[in-house]
Amino acid sequence: MLENMNEKCAVVGIYGCEDASKLAYFSLHALQHRGQEAAGISSSDGKKLHTIKNRGLVMRVFNEKNLATLSGNNAIGHTRYSTAGDDSILDAQPVFARYDLGEMAIVHNGNLTNAEEVRNALIKKGAIFQTFMDTENLIHLIAKSEKEKLIDRIIDAVQRIEGAFSLVFLSRTKMFAMRDRHGFRPLSLGKLPFGGYIVASETCAFDLVGATYIRDVEPGELLIFEEGEEPKSIKVFEPTPKHCIFEYVYFARPDSHVFGQSVYQTRKNMGQELARIQPVEADLVIPVPDGGVPAAIGYSQASGIPYEMGIMRNHYIGRTFIEPTQEMRDLKVKMKLSPMTDIIKGKRIIVVDDSIVRGTTSRRIIRMLKEAGASEVHMRVSSPPTTDPCFYGVDTPSKDKLIAANMTNQEICDYIEADSLAYLTEETLLRSVNSNITEEKYCTACFTGKYIV
Ligand code: AMP
Repeated sequence: MLENMNEKCAVVGIYGCEDASKLAYFSLHALQHRGQEAAGISSSDGKKLHTIKNRGLVMRVFNEKNLATLSGNNAIGHTRYSTAGDDSILDAQPVFARYDLGEMAIVHNGNLTNAEEVRNALIKKGAIFQTFMDTENLIHLIAKSEKEKLIDRIIDAVQRIEGAFSLVFLSRTKMFAMRDRHGFRPLSLGKLPFGGYIVASETCAFDLVGATYIRDVEPGELLIFEEGEEPKSIKVFEPTPKHCIFEYVYFARPDSHVFGQSVYQTRKNMGQELARIQPVEADLVIPVPDGGVPAAIGYSQASGIPYEMGIMRNHYIGRTFIEPTQEMRDLKVKMKLSPMTDIIKGKRIIVVDDSIVRGTTSRRIIRMLKEAGASEVHMRVSSPPTTDPCFYGVDTPSKDKLIAANMTNQEICDYIEADSLAYLTEETLLRSVNSNITEEKYCTACFTGKYIV
């Protein structure tokens, strides 16, 4: 089984700007929330590609000295999020290769659904793989393509892959950005302040480097960056948008715009909808930090129940999902979140989180709030029950571990020891992101089991 290594990663590309690798580096800092496992940058100076990648946070992988070796006006970067498994540096990105047309590096966010099939076919024809990443398939497909020019080989290659991909390719002189026909994962285009272009998974990277948002790379579109020219666009696939709604629920940073909308505003809308359809009498609304903050603000504003910070988050602990075992997960939640006893004691609390996956976080938090003296704890979730795993790039566990796939609402409520538990519905979630059920612009498979690919 191929490992899903490119899940909720971040990609960035900088084209036509002095010290491109430094801008890629700063951008990766803004995109760090999308992956903390590994980071890497490849730059091109017109003659040669230079790559540095390693395990760990962006801050750990790069320093002034090694960044200085990434010379050139073009660069691509990646932060990798993966679950447990092979943590070899080979599985960090960019993926680099020498082939008959020269050198190339690729970064990928998303998950290819036919990766195993493609890989087995390539192996049968003699290909040798160095990593477990589905992205390596692309290198082989490009290298083996019969087409003469790189651009045609890229088109050839992406026509053979299926699933979710937001990709950035770097050659010695050009850069290419491509999104799958559904636009599952985000990818935006911006203009750099002193000339040149940026593409990035989220617009929070633009804000950091002073870039201006131009537009999103369209689903099915390939953008070509060449020296001294405006980016050229080729429609490789007819677009059929199915944007990942979980980007709005949990994954993207609130100060980003993804799929053309503010993440913060959509999360606040979710909280407001939740207050409207799932009201409950209480003294305080508190968020599970950081994910639940905008929705809790929305809930408080719509319900008129005061908002308080009832739980402190320790920002120096990684995300709980990274730990492989159940015991470690419990411990990590404890280390990460602690109650503000003075605020909570004797109060009826509404606690808002963005999602319940296994139920570990909610159970621990509710117990913690009760131990801190809360008289009632009502759990409100700003998305529908997570009932189905994701095959397009979000790291959700298998169905047997998804609590909502295996228990009724009352059973979950009892398990997490809440006084009440309520979620958003599919309809109200879609309304929060300014869509509706008939429009079908978003992939909601993790909540509905309606898969597209
Ligand atoms: P759980 O403890 O398994 O129920 O997970 C729910 C918590 O994990 C919530 O606080 C979410 O904010 C967070 N979460 C949801 N989805 C993910 C994900 N794919 N990766 C990491 N954290 C997540």
